[in-house]
Amino acid sequence: MDFTTLTFVSAAEALEKGELSSRELCRMLIEKRESIDSRLKAYIHFNPEKIMAHADEADERRAAGRAYSKFDGLPLAVKDNFAVRGEPCTCASRILKDFISPYDATVTSRLRRAGIIFAGRTNMDEFAMGSTNENSGWEPVSNPWDLQRIPGGSSGGSAAAVGAGEALAALGSDTGGSIRLPAGYCGAVGLKPTYGRVSRFGLVAFASSLDQIGPLTRDTRDSACLLDLMAGPDSKDSTTLPQPPENFTDRLAEGGLKGMRIGLPKEYMDGEGLDPEVKNTVEQAAEKMRQEGAEIIEVSLPHNPYAVAAYYIIAPAEASANLARFDGIRYGMRDEEGAKQGILELYRKTRAKGFGDEVKRRIILGTYVLSSGSHDAYYLRAQKVRTLIRQDFNEAFRQCDILLGPTAPAPASRKGELTSPLEMYLTDAYTLPANLAGICAISLPAAFSKSGLPIAVQLLGPALGEKQLLRTAHQFEQINQLQIGTPDIPA
Ligand code: GLN
Repeated sequence: MDFTTLTFVSAAEALEKGELSSRELCRMLIEKRESIDSRLKAYIHFNPEKIMAHADEADERRAAGRAYSKFDGLPLAVKDNFAVRGEPCTCASRILKDFISPYDATVTSRLRRAGIIFAGRTNMDEFAMGSTNENSGWEPVSNPWDLQRIPGGSSGGSAAAVGAGEALAALGSDTGGSIRLPAGYCGAVGLKPTYGRVSRFGLVAFASSLDQIGPLTRDTRDSACLLDLMAGPDSKDSTTLPQPPENFTDRLAEGGLKGMRIGLPKEYMDGEGLDPEVKNTVEQAAEKMRQEGAEIIEVSLPHNPYAVAAYYIIAPAEASANLARFDGIRYGMRDEEGAKQGILELYRKTRAKGFGDEVKRRIILGTYVLSSGSHDAYYLRAQKVRTLIRQDFNEAFRQCDILLGPTAPAPASRKGELTSPLEMYLTDAYTLPANLAGICAISLPAAFSKSGLPIAVQLLGPALGEKQLLRTAHQFEQINQLQIGTPDIPA
């Protein structure tokens, strides 16, 4: 059996049929990682002994007829900003270098109860701030399809690991596209659920009104399956929605595209800087869906061109408040020199040494837009724009069931190519509107560029519209028949 051809669901089936043991599965994962990760740097922490010990326990449970679930013994990679009890959680920041999480996030405890093995923590932009992974406090991740290119961010390690076949599936977080953008660049499927669908308890907060947790997988069935395992209300996160858990997997293939109304937002298709190959991929996707009986409608999201500006005020504002807790006293790093000079110097020196440039930029920007003289001009205004963006989506979803557009303006750029923060921020133009509106969206690999890089399309659904979103994505996957495979990575 070849590890790179397995999915989360197919591996579960193989375990159930006894064709594979968790030990064999985890061994394949460990070997694959050993052979390629020195090139990719997708993982920050990886403990083969611990993984194998968990695998043996899972095999014993299954043999005794006491498997926790049909997924018992499956390995899952986890972005390094989730709390997993007893494991490091650094958010790829020097300030959390030696931090060990004393508790489980709600998602990790739910997955743990299903018998999932947390197999490695994936690299990311520091505190999930970035779109290229070049802001990792450790080493930047490479794109598996071209090692000179970025994997996207901020869940770049998760996306590269899945795209390269050194993870069955992975968890990521998406505040302004951080699951979908890297999934798109690396040839993985990336799902951002509706805000409140999945508990954020135990996810290190970046921008609390935007953050959502979701899976990065090899196909849409795996996305549905992982969402089933994670979603649902949680008393530890008051922003979770009361909807009881639904089953997204069992009837995923039902429905078909016939009669569905698919909206193409004109602002997405006419946007400045949209690469012709990406535009063509989205148009081809629309055409294929039309041939299956979907109606393609042009819709308008008139305030979307202001989304990047609004997001880069709101997200830093929330980040500046959330990151105040990293003060040299409560978590992680503490500058002892500073401590001798009093509390202010302790804060200053710890934060100056512990945070990287992009994180500092966000904290400064966020503090500025919240300050009394600027609050109304920037923060309040951005919130008003956010409301208009949400209303645009509501209006669009009155005219159509699902929206279709690009995930990113172009395929993955070269490392170092985006030289200013603004250039990087602009790559989020198609992904971050969904976070501002709180709706659900999924990125799917759809084609390869002439230069051999994955090109993705994005589908967006209304709040709590995951069932239809996943079904539509699944239909597209079936009709598009892209054999994505995994790239050859020289040793
Ligand atoms: N690229 C965006 C940012 O830097 C989104 C990050 C994310 O979704 N975590 O803020």
